[in-house]
Amino acid sequence: MSEYKMWIGGKWIGAESGKTYPVFNPANGMEIAQLPLGGKADVDKAVDAARKAFPIWSKKPQSERSQVAMKIASLLRENAKELGMIDTLDHGTPVKTAAATVAGKAVNFEWAAYNARSLMGHTVPQSPNELAYLQHEPIGVVALITPWNFPLSMILVKLAPALTLGNTCIIKPPSIDSLAALKLAELLEKLELPPGTINVITGPGSTVGESLASHRGVDMVSFTGSCETGKQIMALASQTVKRLHLELGGKNPVIILEDADINTAANAMAARQFSNAGQICACPGRFYVHEKVYDEFLEKFTAATQKLVVGDPGDEKTDMGPLVSAEHRDRVEGYIRSGLDEGAKIVMGGQKPTALPMKNGYFVMPMIFTNATQKMKIAREEIFGPVAVFMEKFNSDAKVIEMANDSTFGLCSYIWTRDMARGMRFANEIAVGTVWLSNALTLAPELPWTGYKESGIGEENSLYGLLEYTNLKRVHVDLTLTK
Ligand code: NDP
Repeated sequence: MSEYKMWIGGKWIGAESGKTYPVFNPANGMEIAQLPLGGKADVDKAVDAARKAFPIWSKKPQSERSQVAMKIASLLRENAKELGMIDTLDHGTPVKTAAATVAGKAVNFEWAAYNARSLMGHTVPQSPNELAYLQHEPIGVVALITPWNFPLSMILVKLAPALTLGNTCIIKPPSIDSLAALKLAELLEKLELPPGTINVITGPGSTVGESLASHRGVDMVSFTGSCETGKQIMALASQTVKRLHLELGGKNPVIILEDADINTAANAMAARQFSNAGQICACPGRFYVHEKVYDEFLEKFTAATQKLVVGDPGDEKTDMGPLVSAEHRDRVEGYIRSGLDEGAKIVMGGQKPTALPMKNGYFVMPMIFTNATQKMKIAREEIFGPVAVFMEKFNSDAKVIEMANDSTFGLCSYIWTRDMARGMRFANEIAVGTVWLSNALTLAPELPWTGYKESGIGEENSLYGLLEYTNLKRVHVDLTLTK
């Protein structure tokens, strides 16, 4: 078992308090490391370092910063296997996908590197005697507060634009899954950036996260996580009117129309539902299936679910590993109990494995509920686990759109039909940031990711997302003045 340090101001240091906390392998419940228990004093150090680095880093030519981003992309590809193994160890990401997930984020750095170099300002033709022009400037110190569901990837999608555009960054990784962030810092140390350009501070959200969100020296918080925490961060950040970027939860409606390709839809949606053990904000949240194809879809979805290999995430054959922690497993089991209490029916799954070695891990077997209704907790709240929720059958387009929109969330939706005009009418009516129309989950740095309603504020990825990390300055020049 190793003891780790935080990366602050270009140095590896322990927490000011001298305290550490344990992290565990979710596949077997064994302690794997002790991490520094960062607190307010450590946040002050990181903010101080990032503020000192900002004038140096932000004044570098964009071409130089873009070269750094390209080098990070190479480092990610070269070290994807090792970084992926860390996600497997402390998060339970199946090894089958772990390295590819990390390597995939190299593209975010390349994309940011290219596009930051062509982020031009504008002139505004307001008056012939004045020149008014606009320029994008980095914001300053950005706190990146990220969740555990993709421990490294969630950091990388934020770090790529924030850093490349000239901001200095303080990464606050999820406290239970911080190992990959620390390994990333070890790799970035080789780039010899001005000390404090990137800092990684470990410790709980209730101290490290809150101190960052309320700190006068932090100019922006870019947060991905739950709605509850997002609201707390908004409240804290409001005291100093910080720039905020929030990517929050979802309860995403899947609508299967009667003319859909049922085979393709059932297989694609089962893969989506149970990927990362359902711990993805874009996972299906509620299935609305037309009465004419309900039985066929449910049968094929169940068959696809039964084929999933659940087990040791370190095994190449495994499709689904454990949940991230005992606490989260208990939370998911609470949702399962509430579904049963409120009258939903179980088609399959939901049990804890009873045999070793899975018995000691935080596993919940892939589960399917049917007969859920709009008012049930399992249909309203984000379960964030391997639990598919089938709502009652529908037979009216207008009614299903109304039910799909009956949610505080508005992250994404999947609509399956062969009639694209009908599908596009659905896409227009569903209040979400992304609609996949007979398609399942395409993500790329050039495509924006955003939430309606309580699913977030601002965009991740795309040119819109790049601009989130800049201030827009207007400069006026009076052309009539002579020397
Ligand atoms: P949390 O909101 O619990 O935590 C996210 C991060 O915030 C962690 O680093 C956490 O620290 C920190 N934090 C916790 N409390 C505070 C606080 N009071 N002030 C500041 N920071 C705090 O989310 P989870 O880690 O549980 O992740 C799951 C959630 O993330 C789901 O709701 C999911 O939908 C959402 N998510 C959204 C995505 C999107 O793109 N829309 C993508 C991925 C996930 P600590 O680890 O110490 O608790």
